[in-house]
Amino acid sequence: TFEQSKTLKRLPEQFFAKLVQKVQRLKDEGHDVINLGQGNPDLPTPPSIVKALQKAAEDPVNHKYSPFSGHTYFKEAVAKFYQREYGVEVDPKREVSILFGAKTGLVEISQCLLNPGDLALLPDPGYPDYLSGMALADAKQILMPLLKENHFLPDYHAISEEDAEKAKLLFLNYPNNPTSATATKEFFDETVAFAKKHHLCVVHDFAYGALGFDGEKPRSFLQSEGAKEIGVEMYTMSKTYNMAGWRVAFAVGNPSVIESIDLIQDHLYVSLFGAIQYAAAQALLGDQTAVRELVQTYERRRNRFIKAVKEIGWKVDMPKGTFFAWLPVPSGYTSQEFADLLLEKAHVAVAPGNGFGCTGEGYVRVGLLDSEERLEVAAKRIGELGLF
Ligand code: PLP
Repeated sequence: TFEQSKTLKRLPEQFFAKLVQKVQRLKDEGHDVINLGQGNPDLPTPPSIVKALQKAAEDPVNHKYSPFSGHTYFKEAVAKFYQREYGVEVDPKREVSILFGAKTGLVEISQCLLNPGDLALLPDPGYPDYLSGMALADAKQILMPLLKENHFLPDYHAISEEDAEKAKLLFLNYPNNPTSATATKEFFDETVAFAKKHHLCVVHDFAYGALGFDGEKPRSFLQSEGAKEIGVEMYTMSKTYNMAGWRVAFAVGNPSVIESIDLIQDHLYVSLFGAIQYAAAQALLGDQTAVRELVQTYERRRNRFIKAVKEIGWKVDMPKGTFFAWLPVPSGYTSQEFADLLLEKAHVAVAPGNGFGCTGEGYVRVGLLDSEERLEVAAKRIGELGLF
């Protein structure tokens, strides 16, 4: 056996691995587990996108290495998408980078811009992979608590002047995983001003960009004036188009950051399979009916699940975006204990909030990633435990 490097040993424990194991054990024992623990979309990619992939896969042009930093037509499609959806002008040559899923971009950005010992501001609770990036770059995080009383937005006034001056990166994610909160224009404008004042680079994770409810379209960070001067936004095809398995996403924004991301990607991967780039471009440019239907599907699931949960006496707030519900744990239990109880006794898997950071303690995250009927059954099974 060969010893792992110090870099690998710094990596945080993969939080979902344990949950997957526990779910598998119960399934192997023959139990009907309703798995709402992970963030894996359950619906298929729209057929027109799959057909575009099939067509492009037959074209020998795509059997060669794709150009470094991606195909021009895909970057142009990204620019058109930002113009159409958000009214944001994007230069496809200098302001777009093609990613192997948003996860790679979110992890690599720390290696692009941080030196060992440098500081970054991270949301807590937050998507765990920001921490993986910190560990690989040997950088240090300052956690920004996301509290219900502040609508799960960080409070920049609570960050000390010293920390703000020392930090180089600021990670944000709205609509937010795990809290399902959305951001306002005022908050994003305040973020631009804060970043400019302290010379911070903002990384906005817009993974759930399409998933806003009650007719509220989530804002792009780049819609705020001056945002491109100080930041980048990562947008994934995984959630909007149910393409999580395809590993395709893009970063948009500040040209110097885009150049750095392209550089690291060239060294690591060359470029994404051309046929995937082609199909992704078609998805961005084509008819968006499937996206609207997807949002309606999640909204119906949310409504039915939250109604059923309220009926069992659980006091919860309505998710505003994403496909998650962030629900308070009843008193007397930690998040982990409560999640274990739901899994063992009700055979419903949920993610304990502490897995997203210590401010997540006291909550569980439920993925709206099964049919309305199954979500209702999950709520009923939880109700039968008589905890509320
Ligand atoms: N960012 C957030 C907040 C997510 O929840 C996820 C996926 O679960 C990602 C990024 C990763 O997206 P991708 O599939 O593009 O790697």
